[in-house]
Amino acid sequence: MLSRRKLIQRLSSFPLVGGLIGSGVPLSQALAAAAPKRDLFRELGVRTFINGAGTLTYMTGSLMHDEVLEAINYGATEFCLLDELQDKVGEKIARLVHSEAAVVTSGAFSGMTLGLAGILTGMDLKKVEQLPHLEYTGMKSEVICQKAHDIVYNHALTNTGCKIVQVETAEDVEKAINERTALMHFLHIEADKGKIMHEEWVALGKKHNIPTSIDIAADVPPVENLWRFNDMGFSFVVVSGGKAMRGPQSAGLLMGRKDIIAAARLHMPPRGFNIGRGMKVNKEEVLGMYVALEKFINTDHAKLWKSWEDGIAHIEGTVKPLPGIQTEVHVPPMGNHTPTLRIRWDAAKIRLTGKDLQDRLRAGDPSIEVGGGGPNGVNVTVWMMKPGQEKIVAKRLREELSKASA
Ligand SMILES: *Cc1c(COP(=O)(O)O)cnc(C)c1O
Repeated sequence: MLSRRKLIQRLSSFPLVGGLIGSGVPLSQALAAAAPKRDLFRELGVRTFINGAGTLTYMTGSLMHDEVLEAINYGATEFCLLDELQDKVGEKIARLVHSEAAVVTSGAFSGMTLGLAGILTGMDLKKVEQLPHLEYTGMKSEVICQKAHDIVYNHALTNTGCKIVQVETAEDVEKAINERTALMHFLHIEADKGKIMHEEWVALGKKHNIPTSIDIAADVPPVENLWRFNDMGFSFVVVSGGKAMRGPQSAGLLMGRKDIIAAARLHMPPRGFNIGRGMKVNKEEVLGMYVALEKFINTDHAKLWKSWEDGIAHIEGTVKPLPGIQTEVHVPPMGNHTPTLRIRWDAAKIRLTGKDLQDRLRAGDPSIEVGGGGPNGVNVTVWMMKPGQEKIVAKRLREELSKASA
């Protein structure tokens, strides 16, 4: 062990720490400033990679903006009442997204559960406790959803004890509605796969006095989607915070009618007699989500889009000259709305499967993840890359494709 005196002598030779010592900063803080940052991923042997695949939960979603991290660190320095924070942040968010009320949830999925739970119970605490057991309680128990919209994430709705009733046409909806109908749920990303579009869905709900909800989890950009469906009259809207908005990956927003949000809050922490206790959002994430939303709304989206197009153009320009390669830029219309480069090749000219290429990029240094693109292709996005990483990805793609050229 070094003596304190020796330590100070040694530390004083580092410019930054030297400046801190004697300036009133405690030695422990001076030491912390001098210590190399722990590289936890390396310590743990966890692979990190350049993300050319998109905002995928299994790849940990997105990287938080510096402003979000600052908000999280700041939040960690004080106590506050969780409800008071959600009240105040909720008011601000509601104004930003044109809803009557809003609350930060632990993701879009929990937003669906909590919104529906609020509709089922209203402000009745006894009913809150009874969920997910709906039988003999007088609570409603069915959610109507178009067949094309009934995807795995609807488990969020059945978690309340409700069951899903599938429909295809407006006539089906009219037939399906009964005294047990709690909600009519819509999935934006599959909107074009269903027969009933947004406005008609909302109108059907209004006609029969049934609340309507919409899942737009992965569907910003465009930024306007944050308020478009509130303006349209959906009773509640849910969106993920940790996808394009680059807020905390474990946060999201529930926006909508004041009475629904107030009742949904009864199902959330700090209360613990409910189905939502496990969907906790800490104060740091509440602040981080709020700041991420503000930043996303204030972003110059035209400029951001141009930077994505430039990144894609660089990669396309690097691989396209290789013999047997076809490229195409595709923008998914409904969700994950970002330029996506589809690279396809002639199997006779390039002896590599799409999966082989993914494996080789993954095994390289730095490791790179790209999306699957069928037997002879991969898909690449740049929106989750750090500036400059598109150059590395372009180079590695070209290397591996050239190596496999027949
Ligand atoms: C990602 C996603 C969800 C889940 O959102 P979380 O914010 O991770 O809870 C729900 N629905 C759709 C369509 C999604 O893409």
